Amino acid sequence: MPENKPSEKTRKLKEDLFWEQQRCWDKLSARERAEVSSYAERYIDFLDRARTERRAVKLMVEEARLKGFNDIHAKGAKTGRVFLSSREKMLVMAVVGKRPMAEGIRLVASHLDAPRLDLKPNPLYEDTGLAFLKTHYYGGIKKYHWVARPLALCGTLIRRDGRSVDIDLGLEPDDPILTVTDLLPHLARKQMEQKASEFIPAENLNVLVGGTPYADKKADERVKLSILQILNKKYKITEEDFTTAEIQVVPADRPRSAGLDGSLIAGYGQDDRVCAFTSFSALLETAQPEHTCVAVFYDKEEIGSEGNTSAKSRFLEMFLMEMLQYTGAEPSQVNLHRVCFNGKGLSADVAAGLDPTYPDVHEKRNSPKLGCGLNLKKYTGSGGKYGASDANAEYASWVRNLFNDNRVVWQAGGMGKVDEGGGGTVSKFVANLGMEIIDCGPPVLSMHSPLEVTSKDDVWMCRKAFKVFFMS
Ligand code: MN
Ligand code: MN
Repeated sequence: MPENKPSEKTRKLKEDLFWEQQRCWDKLSARERAEVSSYAERYIDFLDRARTERRAVKLMVEEARLKGFNDIHAKGAKTGRVFLSSREKMLVMAVVGKRPMAEGIRLVASHLDAPRLDLKPNPLYEDTGLAFLKTHYYGGIKKYHWVARPLALCGTLIRRDGRSVDIDLGLEPDDPILTVTDLLPHLARKQMEQKASEFIPAENLNVLVGGTPYADKKADERVKLSILQILNKKYKITEEDFTTAEIQVVPADRPRSAGLDGSLIAGYGQDDRVCAFTSFSALLETAQPEHTCVAVFYDKEEIGSEGNTSAKSRFLEMFLMEMLQYTGAEPSQVNLHRVCFNGKGLSADVAAGLDPTYPDVHEKRNSPKLGCGLNLKKYTGSGGKYGASDANAEYASWVRNLFNDNRVVWQAGGMGKVDEGGGGTVSKFVANLGMEIIDCGPPVLSMHSPLEVTSKDDVWMCRKAFKVFFMS
């Protein structure tokens, strides 16, 4: 009876010619598997404490100092491990390499900002005996994600006396949380007929903050007054201080392990703090690299990289100039161009994971899957590659070989079907400096929602990828 199976020769040919998708887990040793969960715990703790870009910078600077990094402007011994922060919202760190910087650096770029609700300049008001805060959303959100869920206030406010005050309400387990109310289904007939982009208008994203009236019954706006009294007692602030503050409304839920097998991580802000954390820890573990290694953590990516803490700012260039000086090279324009032009970069940002519940928007062959490693994304952009950073074939294959040689599990792909949407990252701004750069990062489900999902083995693999890249 003829066997219903291809011949050995066909099997061999397929093995030689086809490219098989790999699962991270299958490629890990027992020791590495054990490390995956402990590393995930550290990452979850970081996510929990770094709810805003300012918090992230603060935490990273604290830890970097413990690991021997100094502010590049600090006097004293040159450790070859330096950092510089821009307005406490953007950070650059470097480990000096053996070769002159003009021979090229290794750069990993990620971003620390995440979609959220910002407070308006005049946020506080009272209506129907309750006090609320007006908000203005930041980044690409689905507004209905932000109603009827626990929220916290996180931010920085400068008092009239010039003192900076960190606001932190709703994150400790015993803190009262805040929320944006939603309409009950019983009265939502009209609301339910509206488009998802419209049924929660932006001006309805008002945060409920209290309901106790101030004691004097003759006063008006008594609830607003008592809320201001609470804030004044805790932070010595007045209503005017809000007008110039940066206060964010963020999900109050703690990030957690997810799945019955605990293999996933569910939490807010993983776009792109997952790449920030993994490249940060990779740089901390980097010693005596061949090339000078730089990790840059940008702000304002989610609103198009505008502003002086963004990837469009000249801060990275200034830092590289200072690094030239620090390493004893001439901080000239031509040297800066050489540093960039001979440099190699990874734009580390999350990828849209293939969600089997929504197959229509994905192109299966070219969408990254959770648990299958870093997504190496040759190009970004939308439509006819508009706004794309498209890595050169020579460089893309150099990265591919580096990953293959070091057992980094990776997958090729991009974001969704052509013409379905699209998006960019900071890569094009770095590419404009003349550097070779390619996008890569772990796939995420529920991206830009208050509960983004990643796979622990992908997260671990990111750190490994950045480590081997820094040591290349
Ligand atoms: Mn991102
Ligand atoms: Mn994003």
